[in-house]
Amino acid sequence: MQSYNRAISTPIVSSATFFYENSQEAEDIFSGNSKEFLYSRMGNPTSSQLEEKLTAMENGIGAVATSSGMGAISMVITSLCSSGDEIIAIGGLFGGSYALMSQTLPRFGINTKFLEVDDLDNIENSITTKTKVIFCESIGNPSLRLPDLAALGQIATKHNIAFIIDNTITPLVIKPFDYGADVVIYSTTKILSGNSSALGGIAIFKEVKLSDKFHTARYEFLKPFINKLKGKALIGCAKKRALRDFGMSANAHSSYQTLLGLETLELRSNRINTSCEIIAQILKSEGVCVNHPSLEENKDNLLYKESFKDGCGSMITIDMETKEKAYKFLDSSKLLILTANIGDSRTLGLHMASTIYQDFSDSEKKYLGITEGLIRVSIGLEKPQDIIDDLLNCFESSK
Ligand SMILES: *Cc1c(COP(=O)(O)O)cnc(C)c1O
Repeated sequence: MQSYNRAISTPIVSSATFFYENSQEAEDIFSGNSKEFLYSRMGNPTSSQLEEKLTAMENGIGAVATSSGMGAISMVITSLCSSGDEIIAIGGLFGGSYALMSQTLPRFGINTKFLEVDDLDNIENSITTKTKVIFCESIGNPSLRLPDLAALGQIATKHNIAFIIDNTITPLVIKPFDYGADVVIYSTTKILSGNSSALGGIAIFKEVKLSDKFHTARYEFLKPFINKLKGKALIGCAKKRALRDFGMSANAHSSYQTLLGLETLELRSNRINTSCEIIAQILKSEGVCVNHPSLEENKDNLLYKESFKDGCGSMITIDMETKEKAYKFLDSSKLLILTANIGDSRTLGLHMASTIYQDFSDSEKKYLGITEGLIRVSIGLEKPQDIIDDLLNCFESSK
């Protein structure tokens, strides 16, 4: 795999399974004593290249690529939680994650307490013996609220609870392991691949150390994995307790596309994060009700300046007050692509309440920061001035 016919682009190994040299090798592969590939549901050579790159990016001990970002979240949560356990979820979550935790997981007896991003006392007080996971996003989508990751990490460490950060929107800018995260999650569908060519996700794991939280009674079920795999226990648990049985596995083609995107991640991310600041500033000066943490009046501006020095991803939001005005705004654009994605090289836009949050209750929408006229714009690689011109034109047309 390292070099196939001297190819310098990662080969796409589109094989569902792999042969074993002999019966003994088959036994060794199944027992984990041989690292050869077993069957693509449990791991694939192309996807494993992606896992290696992202493990290196985050300084982790290993990673598991999945079929989507939701696949990664489902894999980690279902490997760590059983019926009766609790999750503490913080801040305005991505719609799919919120639905998973509010509707689907309760059907399996896993319940979630949803708490406000800055309500640290309440977060700490909500921890019980059943709490297995504290989950947050590095920036709320589309609330754009910034969590105090250092404070959350301290709470998780103090109470010995697994801390999971969904860092989909802020790769490179935020290093979740520096804040005490145990698992970093990405939807690679977004800026990691960067051009909407592949659905994918990944969970990257930190080393389980002898002295840490995973040796407590709360994580008793990890013991067999720790005994066998030592520092890589969380990876074994994710693979055996979720990936093998639920099958949210990555495929070689998507992993290849994602690897291509990764080559330019830093360049794209820098350009987009800078453009967001410029665009938000100018829209504001033209009277648009725009939200971005870089703006002085934003609630999280201080945190932004302290912890998000290189920006906070591709999103800005515009509140047009009513659905009618929001529709007019979007429908008069010559540049925006109307779609549910973010982190693309092209600028994308969407009215929130009528699409992703269509079947959410009023109180859920309030918690998630979804107002009637809210438009999410994911800034792309176009010239910032071209984006500004288009958005100002939309604003004029919707008056
Ligand atoms: C898109 C997204 C997800 C889900 O990823 P999919 O690849 O669409 O399954 C999860 N978290 C965040 C923050 C996202 O933006």
